Amino acid sequence: MCGATAVGRFEIEELSVEIVCLDLEGVLVPEIWINFAEKTGIEALKATTRDIPDYDVLMKQRLSILDEHNLGIADIQDVIGDMGPMEGAREFVDSLREQFQVVILSDTFYEFAQPLMRQLGWPTLFCHKLEVNAAGKIVDYKLRQKDPKRQSVIAFHQLNYRVIAAGDSYNDTTMLSEADAGILFKAPQNVIDEFPQYPSKTTYEELKQEIERVSNRDITLSRN
Ligand SMILES: [Mg+2]
Repeated sequence: MCGATAVGRFEIEELSVEIVCLDLEGVLVPEIWINFAEKTGIEALKATTRDIPDYDVLMKQRLSILDEHNLGIADIQDVIGDMGPMEGAREFVDSLREQFQVVILSDTFYEFAQPLMRQLGWPTLFCHKLEVNAAGKIVDYKLRQKDPKRQSVIAFHQLNYRVIAAGDSYNDTTMLSEADAGILFKAPQNVIDEFPQYPSKTTYEELKQEIERVSNRDITLSRN
């Protein structure tokens, strides 16, 4: 094998240099705020950036509603834990991880995602952070950086990884454009129409086939 360097039992050429970046909400787990509003019956929590475009205003409103209802982080995590990931999500992530490094890029918060990440087998997650006081009340939130999904792909490229990315919404499109291959998954029709350059897939089986197709290796993901 020309140019390969032996490293123990492996040869460099055989090491994977591909990362799959996945969005979380709408791809592996339900939309957290919408489902939380449904499970708790708190209608006002159904507001999204479509209703209140300023994310900061929206988040402050959400936190004050949680406070009004006396919901601390533990209550919230209980409700989120009951949502569970989407059917087949765990098996999908597991099969990807046999062939790729998998990183989940999300605009959620670690504290909200935690009960769902447990059910997904703790894949790597890059997202934002909440500030919780000693009594378990959420007092603030910290966005890690601006346009974090795109910044992550840029950083992976600097580390010499090839990036395949999949997401369902507007906040994924900069990640998809920065990636070597971008795929829409379970995207609403308006997003599919606005971004026709990305193939659109709706089942994990279809998504696996597309990932196999755009990979620079001849791989077959396990079907379980
Ligand atoms: Mg999403």
